[in-house]
Amino acid sequence: MTEKPHAQTTQSAAPAQNPLIDPFGRAVTYLRVSVTDRCDFRCVYCMSENMTFLPKKDLLTLEELEAVCTSFIDKGVRKIRLTGGEPLVRRNIMSLIRNLGAKVKSGELDELTLTTNGSQLAKYADDLYEAGVRRINVSIDTLDPYTFAEVTRWGRLAQVMEGLEAADKAGLAVKINAVALKAVNHKEIPDMVRWAHGRGYDLTLIETMPMGDIEGDRTDQYLPLSQVETELSDLWTLTNIPYKTGGPARYMHVKETGGRLGLITPLTHNFCESCNRVRLTCTGQLYMCLGQDDMADLRRPLRTPDVHGSLSDAIDEAIGRKPKGHDFIIDRPGQKPAVKRHMSLTGG
Ligand code: SAM
Ligand code: SF4
Repeated sequence: MTEKPHAQTTQSAAPAQNPLIDPFGRAVTYLRVSVTDRCDFRCVYCMSENMTFLPKKDLLTLEELEAVCTSFIDKGVRKIRLTGGEPLVRRNIMSLIRNLGAKVKSGELDELTLTTNGSQLAKYADDLYEAGVRRINVSIDTLDPYTFAEVTRWGRLAQVMEGLEAADKAGLAVKINAVALKAVNHKEIPDMVRWAHGRGYDLTLIETMPMGDIEGDRTDQYLPLSQVETELSDLWTLTNIPYKTGGPARYMHVKETGGRLGLITPLTHNFCESCNRVRLTCTGQLYMCLGQDDMADLRRPLRTPDVHGSLSDAIDEAIGRKPKGHDFIIDRPGQKPAVKRHMSLTGG
């Protein structure tokens, strides 16, 4: 596949004055922003069917989200990923995307990306490209329309496929994210890899993480990717490659399909030593680790700096508390989730 172009930058930004370095010497250069906890799907591993969403009044406005992003950019963040919930269901989300995209065009940011379920892509793909987005992650766990409807509860595969067509036409590079789920898509994984690589997409498999209460026991869903890797290497020639996208996936080249396969393995292979990211929720809470409960409230310093101190100081203080790693354990039946919040709050 020919590599799609990355976003054009017109000038190089000056290095940050006070870069964010955590207590373990890791530079924080990547911010993930969950712009909404709401979603038009109800994936079984992510949400319960009757989710209670946050009251709208608790959300940061799009202007406030941009102000926090700008403060991080001033401190050396080079990559921002918008996620959710479903980022494209937040009203007027394109205004935030355009403003952050302008920072890519000016060289203040290296990349602005998005993780989406694809349901709204047919509507937004051209606008995303125009705003400066060049790569998106689209989450698809199965290519079977019935299984897709079961896993997402409210989703339709055909709508996501239309979204992918639109993304291709717009020139967006697509990576497919698939959560590996025992008894759901385990047997289908080789077909999904063939399909994704046939379309020129990378595919990344993700181990299901114990986040938030869902209906059912996660041990029923958990499929260790170490097992999948062994199975795929019986089928194909897999070669580890040093390719990196700034995230936690490690990549392999699949000789027979000619494409890249990523594995995100928080459970079977801890990747925390190279963690460069923090996560902002739509209510302004900063989580320094996806797998820990500690967070810093940025909304108060953002709204009332005279009472709660400056946003900049609050960010510095939070990074000073970034923990060494997560505490995910999943293979004990009846185990409580490692963290109480759902993935849709902090973003995947
Ligand atoms: N709605 C968008 C989507 O589905 O791509 C963005 C948000 S979603 C929370 C981001 C990613 O997290 C998706 O790829 C999803 O499959 C994954 N995810 C959600 N809950 C998860 C869990 N408990 N364990 C592992 N991955 C999860
Ligand atoms: Fe929505 Fe994404 Fe969670 Fe599925 S994984 S329910 S699409 S936020």
